[in-house]
Amino acid sequence: MSGILKYLFYPLVILASLFAGVLLLEHLDEVYFIWIPLILIFPLTLIFVWMEFKFPYQKKWNVSKGDFSADLIRTFFILPIASKIAELALVVLLYYPLIYISTHFNGSLLNEEWWIGTRLIIALLLSEFCYYWIHRLSHKSSRLWRLHAVHHGAERVYWANSGRFHFIDAFLGSLAYFLPVVLMGVSAEVLVLLLILSSVSGMLEHVNINFKAGFINYIFNTAELHRWHHSEKENESNSNYGKVLIVWDLIFGSYYWPKERRIDQAGIEGEQIPVKFFQQVIHPFKSKK
Ligand SMILES: [Zn+2]
Repeated sequence: MSGILKYLFYPLVILASLFAGVLLLEHLDEVYFIWIPLILIFPLTLIFVWMEFKFPYQKKWNVSKGDFSADLIRTFFILPIASKIAELALVVLLYYPLIYISTHFNGSLLNEEWWIGTRLIIALLLSEFCYYWIHRLSHKSSRLWRLHAVHHGAERVYWANSGRFHFIDAFLGSLAYFLPVVLMGVSAEVLVLLLILSSVSGMLEHVNINFKAGFINYIFNTAELHRWHHSEKENESNSNYGKVLIVWDLIFGSYYWPKERRIDQAGIEGEQIPVKFFQQVIHPFKSKK
């Protein structure tokens, strides 16, 4: 990828996804809303896979290390199922708070007359704040790290890493991400746009595509930043914890972007995470940091 395209790639994908999401929200019945992020993710995945081979950041990361089938199962089955269970848990746990909100605040703590973009930004900042801290805690607490290490054990950073999470890690992350917005009583439209942003940005964090994001790296957590989060060196990987945004990292001092260097080795120094699916499932219960 060359010239201006290298810089336009990230904002174009994000804006086009949101635009397509808004169009689908306007034209689809509410019962189909939950499918909108998936409708967008499938064609995007095909484009990303093609671009990884055409414009790779690291050619060696396009070569499977026996991890592909497990990553695929996690991305398209385990992560959506964990998110769904988190969603159901939220509905059960928050039954009474939601009744209270709906009767005392007309269904939402946010003013539904505000522009949808304003409501989305408020919801996004809250979700990101909660996710930032559970993610940072996952690097500090040895119990949580054992689960989160499945994600960091990847020795290459590519599109399917966006779903390479242990089931319990994915469940906790989804709970932290969606708890505040469900509590706020955000509308289905805002929730769908938030899901689109977190899914598309999750892939854009990991894609092995040699794009540049420029000043956007001070707002969004792009692949240029997130690759450092996958560095095998602990002092480098304990950084850039955001999911979509990087603003909480900037505020809480965990922002890391050595512009002149390229990350070479991804993974966990001194620890080998199995590449097969079922071995990864039981690995957190056997290993120590
Ligand atoms: Zn992490």
